[in-house]
Order: sequence, then structure tokens, then C-alpha cells
Amino acid sequence: MHVIHELGQLIFPIRCFGCNKIGLSICSTCRREWHPHYYIRHISSLKVHSAIIYSPTASKILLAAKENGIKGADVLIVESIIHVLSQADFSDLDIALVPIPSSLLSKRRRGRGFIIDIVGQIAQQTSLPVINALELARPVRDQSGLHSAQRAKNMNGAMRLRAGVIPRADLVLIDDVVTTGATLREAARALTAAGCHVVGSVTACVAQPLR
Ligand SMILES: [Zn+2]
Repeated sequence: MHVIHELGQLIFPIRCFGCNKIGLSICSTCRREWHPHYYIRHISSLKVHSAIIYSPTASKILLAAKENGIKGADVLIVESIIHVLSQADFSDLDIALVPIPSSLLSKRRRGRGFIIDIVGQIAQQTSLPVINALELARPVRDQSGLHSAQRAKNMNGAMRLRAGVIPRADLVLIDDVVTTGATLREAARALTAAGCHVVGSVTACVAQPLR
């Protein structure tokens, strides 16, 4: 078994998913860069709590999880969001986690709803309830190539409360990264319009500076 594993490593060497260096699945340099802190940003009236400043390494870790389904990258993201949830002052509230929905296209490409899956893993570890409250009301474009105004237009009116979900209070939106805030702003708008009360948002990464 051991020999076969080592042979496998010669043919398919394990590479760091942060920097591509051969060796561990995440090297010590990248692991240090992904050290969860606690940042707060305001997007309109929505308070966004985040763990990691977005960097080229952070971007590769998110992509490794999202596009390549690498379990170790999922673990880093889950761990950072749980860290922020423990820092944010939600203790007096009866919170439930709401995943930001993925587009059908990315679900098909990745074989899973990425944030829904991440939030499921968080719920398993924290016992916090999850409400899959949001859905896309129309197709949206991939945001990565869009600037701030295009992102706002892309997301404006794009989400709604899923049919059959009972509106409730103390919802916390969960996403992997906040950049311009267009996605979170739309998610909060859709939930608020449907009679829910959003108490904040938690993301693994926060991109700075705003462009
Ligand atoms: Zn590395």
C-alpha cells in the first residue's frame, strides 16, 4: 500500500494548492498567509465580517476549492468562516446561516453548489441552523471580469426568497469573498423585501482596496 502511494506521488506529485510547490497540499508559507483574522466592512447598512485579506494566494485557495473541489481548500474556508462567526457578536441572536446561491452554470461545472456545500460543512461543525432561503430570479454573469458598476447591474434584482421558505429574523449571509459587495447587497435586499431580517454577513475573504 505504502509503495503504491509513493509511486502515485512520483507520477502525480502533490502540489501546494496555494503556490503549486511540490510537497504538501498546503505549504507552510501559504498556510501562514491564510491565517484567519477579523475584519469588518460596511456595505450600505449591512455589516460584513471576514477572516482573510484577499491576495493571490487566497485567490488560488478559493479556486482550488471552487473549481477543483480540493477538500483541504474547503477545510481552510470552513475554518475561517467558523472563526469569524465566533468573533462576531451574534450571541444574543437566534441566527441561521443563509448561503449565497450559485448560478446553475457554475453548479453544473463544479458538480455542487459551492457555498451551499461549505455552509453545510459549517453547520455540521457548529450545529448552527442553515436556511437555504435564496434563489436566483434570473441568470447572472460570472462577476470575476466585471468592474464595480457592472457588478451592481448584474446583481440588481437577481435574487428572491425561495418559494415555501418562511421569512424569519436573524439571518447571516455566507459567501466566500466580498469584493464590491454587489452580491451581498442584493441578497440582503431580496430577503428584507420578503420580510426577513438580515443581521450581517460572514465571508472567508475580503478584497481590498475597493475598485
Ligand atoms: Zn504554497
